[in-house]
Amino acid sequence: MSDRRTILPGATLGVMGSGQLGRMFAIAARRMGYRVHTFSPDSDTPTGQVADLETTAAYDDEVAVRDFAKSIAVLTFEFENVPSQTVGWASEHCPVRPSGKVLHICQHRLREKEFLAGAGIPVAPFRKIESAAQLAEAVAQLSRAASTAEKTSSSGELFCVLKTAAFGYDGKGQRKLRADDDLAEAWRPFEGQPAVLEKFIAFEREISVIVARGIDGSVTTWPVCENGHANHILDVTICPARLADAVAARACELARSVALALDLIGVLAVEMFLMSDGGIFVNELAPRPHNSGHFSFDASVTSQFEQQVRAVCGLPLGSTESLRPAAMANLLGDLWAGGEPDWAAAAAFAEVKIHLYGKTSAKPGRKMGHLTAFGATVEQAAATVRAARAALSRKA
Ligand code: AMP
Repeated sequence: MSDRRTILPGATLGVMGSGQLGRMFAIAARRMGYRVHTFSPDSDTPTGQVADLETTAAYDDEVAVRDFAKSIAVLTFEFENVPSQTVGWASEHCPVRPSGKVLHICQHRLREKEFLAGAGIPVAPFRKIESAAQLAEAVAQLSRAASTAEKTSSSGELFCVLKTAAFGYDGKGQRKLRADDDLAEAWRPFEGQPAVLEKFIAFEREISVIVARGIDGSVTTWPVCENGHANHILDVTICPARLADAVAARACELARSVALALDLIGVLAVEMFLMSDGGIFVNELAPRPHNSGHFSFDASVTSQFEQQVRAVCGLPLGSTESLRPAAMANLLGDLWAGGEPDWAAAAAFAEVKIHLYGKTSAKPGRKMGHLTAFGATVEQAAATVRAARAALSRKA
């Protein structure tokens, strides 16, 4: 359904997926007087704990999906891997924002790369791979197609990255390749599913821009985020990123172009590689709020979650101005290895906000919460957030 009427407070907003992104969406929505109904295969979820209603059903349960869609004013998402058929069923009963087309593109690396390249957005050179023979040929081609910005080598340096086309995140389902790797052996775990081979980009930093687009076509971006990873998982984000104004403006302009090309209604994260010469490649899209945008919950006039509410309800978008320089540090399950973290020790940092997602089991690598800190500068905010996180596991 493509009803473009404004959805006003009091209405029920549907969210598919039930993790921390849905939880923060639900908090923002409820603060504005909306009701929230979440749908996922799990129960007592981070989203379900704060939503008005939680439906626990499989995404291929047509009756449950249709019943859910009939009960809500609009459907949005907190993760992009909802099957297209499910989105199709729902769209017969309520508006779906962002559209199934956006999800379809963003849930598959190859479709996403082809879309971006087709829209004139700079991406790492890539090839579709379906066999070991294709891998060998593509590796040879990409290593010949060198440019000054990309590192190539016949020695042991990294020069390509092989990624599964579907369902990869946080570095899962990908392998970095060196010139002297055994390609047949490298291909084996990917056998039977399409993959993408990308040229290895010797970036200087990883950055992201969160962009939102409303029903009226208005677009907002938050200041550029600068992202540090540990073991392929986002570790610390600082915002605003330490960039020349012209580079930051270009990063925001690229994100804006992607949102327009997708005809997005909602929130989209655009992950990018920044080169030492100021060049930018877009790496990945996420058509929803993003971990790197969590700072906005506390540090922006309008958070990415409130903006998602505004966008999907057809309300005007809010200001994305930053209130203070900020830093966000993820809290992974590893922090629980020595028992319950010392929350009072983190709370003793008066400029730190504690966010926990209500997850009951703390597995290594699992995102359990995050801290946000403010400072006079981003460096100061980052030092505070790291100190507060370290205090969590320091035993008295
Ligand atoms: P992704 O799953 O595509 O977000 O990749 C996870 C991480 O792997 C990125 O955040 C980068 O640190 C690294 N990575 C992915 N693709 C490339 C590439 N083409 N060149 C260099 N590093 C990459």
